[in-house]
Amino acid sequence: MFSRPGAWLLQGLAQLQQALPSQCAICARWPGKRICGDCAARWAAAQPRCRRCALPLAGGATECGACLRAPPAFDAAWAAVDYGYPWSSLLAQLKFQQDPGAAHALAQLLAQVPGVAAALAAARWIVPVPLSAQRLRERGFNQSALLARVLARQPRAGDCANLLVRTRHTAAQSGLQREPRLRNLRGAFEVPARCAALLAGQRVVLVDDIMTTGATLEAAAQALRRAGAIHICAMVVARTQHLPRQ
Ligand SMILES: [Zn+2]
Ligand SMILES: [Zn+2]
Repeated sequence: MFSRPGAWLLQGLAQLQQALPSQCAICARWPGKRICGDCAARWAAAQPRCRRCALPLAGGATECGACLRAPPAFDAAWAAVDYGYPWSSLLAQLKFQQDPGAAHALAQLLAQVPGVAAALAAARWIVPVPLSAQRLRERGFNQSALLARVLARQPRAGDCANLLVRTRHTAAQSGLQREPRLRNLRGAFEVPARCAALLAGQRVVLVDDIMTTGATLEAAAQALRRAGAIHICAMVVARTQHLPRQ
């Protein structure tokens, strides 16, 4: 994926942007990095999370109750930060303004989470959660693809553009609980037949910007699993703190 020259040019520009002094998006200090070291240490410190769904956990547990009762379709999940202040505005810039600098800075935060680099290195494919064709037309870009491009670092051999596709437009998910979300998303993702052979027996990293109830990642992971992927890791920049999967 991500072999289009334009995509790599955008990433090159984002890296250049990172290398040049800029204003910290959080504390506004100048000159700094897009997310300065002090802000990363203060607001993105590593914390214990459920190894299956990345929900923040206390008390030394490794899995949350919801994942113990009903494991998700993905095998592991990582999140860089909790959703909320001060990350929501930077995530909104990523989502609505096609800001490759924001994508680069947020993907770097995720790449530094313990375990993420090894999972990326072990994966055959780094796959963004796709938007529907209608949403892609409206917005012009997929914010998850911007993140996945940074995390993938380089194109993978055996390229198949759009390894995972969204087959239909679904109603907005916000405000819905997990069960209605899952119903809303049933059959919404699929692996095109021409790409299925590329997934059989492979490890996949699925990338999204925000995980709320996990229903989107669940539906996407189910489609990858049906196509033969044997191990699926979910990676998100931000995880909501108070919404377990069930
Ligand atoms: Zn700062
Ligand atoms: Zn969990």
